[in-house]
Amino acid sequence: MKPVTIKDIKLHIVAMPLVELLKTSYGAESYKTAIIIEAVGEGGLTGWGETALKTKPSYGSETVLTAWHISRDFLIPKLLGKTLRSPTEVPRLLKSVRGNHHARAGVEAALWDLLAKANDMRLADYFAAHLPAGNEPRESVSVGVSIGIQDSLAAQLALIQKRLDEGYGRIKLKIEPGWDVELARAVRERFPDITLMLDANSAYTLSDAERLKQLDQFDLLMIEQPLAYDDIYEHSQLQPQLSTPICLDESIYSAHDWRVALRLGAGRILNLKPTRVGGYSESLEIYRLCQEAETPLWIGGMLETGIGRAANLSFAALPAVDLPSDISATNRYFDPDITEPPFELAPGSSIRLPAGPGIGVEVQRERLAEGEARWREYNPFKRGGI
Ligand code: MG
Repeated sequence: MKPVTIKDIKLHIVAMPLVELLKTSYGAESYKTAIIIEAVGEGGLTGWGETALKTKPSYGSETVLTAWHISRDFLIPKLLGKTLRSPTEVPRLLKSVRGNHHARAGVEAALWDLLAKANDMRLADYFAAHLPAGNEPRESVSVGVSIGIQDSLAAQLALIQKRLDEGYGRIKLKIEPGWDVELARAVRERFPDITLMLDANSAYTLSDAERLKQLDQFDLLMIEQPLAYDDIYEHSQLQPQLSTPICLDESIYSAHDWRVALRLGAGRILNLKPTRVGGYSESLEIYRLCQEAETPLWIGGMLETGIGRAANLSFAALPAVDLPSDISATNRYFDPDITEPPFELAPGSSIRLPAGPGIGVEVQRERLAEGEARWREYNPFKRGGI
């Protein structure tokens, strides 16, 4: 594999209007914010990455501004001028920086794109080149759609119908106490055969076990992260009480966490968000673990722009990612996105892998600049220079 010397890494904070607000048990934000990372190698070759974070520490402990500070002042100085043979060397170079997984993941993602391009490979093939033979990517990725909490049951049912009509084959609904059993019952009455899953985003405690058990009757694919965002142990107390598989999301920050969760029986499925676990190197480690343990795996989303979406799609094309991933078509989120071409939903609730090298989509510089201008206007915590 061809090595690359890192000449420059630039950060662009953007604010993007969402086509529809996604309300979860964490609330809703008016813009999708992110840091777009531009890594430059020899000869001006450019790799793109994304740190998809909100302005508030609600999903995890990082925000778009903490990630900007950590990236600019701690991560980038450790990488400039280094020659990399593989992006899997990045975690070792950054190991003196603790935590801040989303920040690290964004910077690492730009280097995955840069090195894949330097080797004239699609990112999905480049990921597979870091795995044993037999992990060659599929050309199209099975995807589902996530639907936020609506104001009424009627609105919820109408939106599910709309998504089914668009061609999505797996529906995920956000729940919270008081918007769960009745919701699942109504959805199952209207749509008895759809592939359905629920995501609680940590809205329950172990004392809600009786209520959560009632969800078993609705033939759910899984229930995602019912208990605390930083808990593994209590999920291991809950899982044996449910027939529905628990899928862990918020509480798995590393391959180590997932190994612990598997040993304790805290969940049977993993929602892997590469950005949450610190990047694609750690994601490959978790991928191998799931393959060994024969644990179902899918890729979750953070409302990424086309940059993060393309990279996640490339990872989701790996064959052990065996459940539909939360990677929807572009028109579900942005109009327009900062990349071209848009991702479109193909028959069989799938999205095709882009053909070009690296992430396979082109960043539109003028839209990136518009996103940055919008951020400067929107930034709720104005600081000099950002
Ligand atoms: Mg989730």
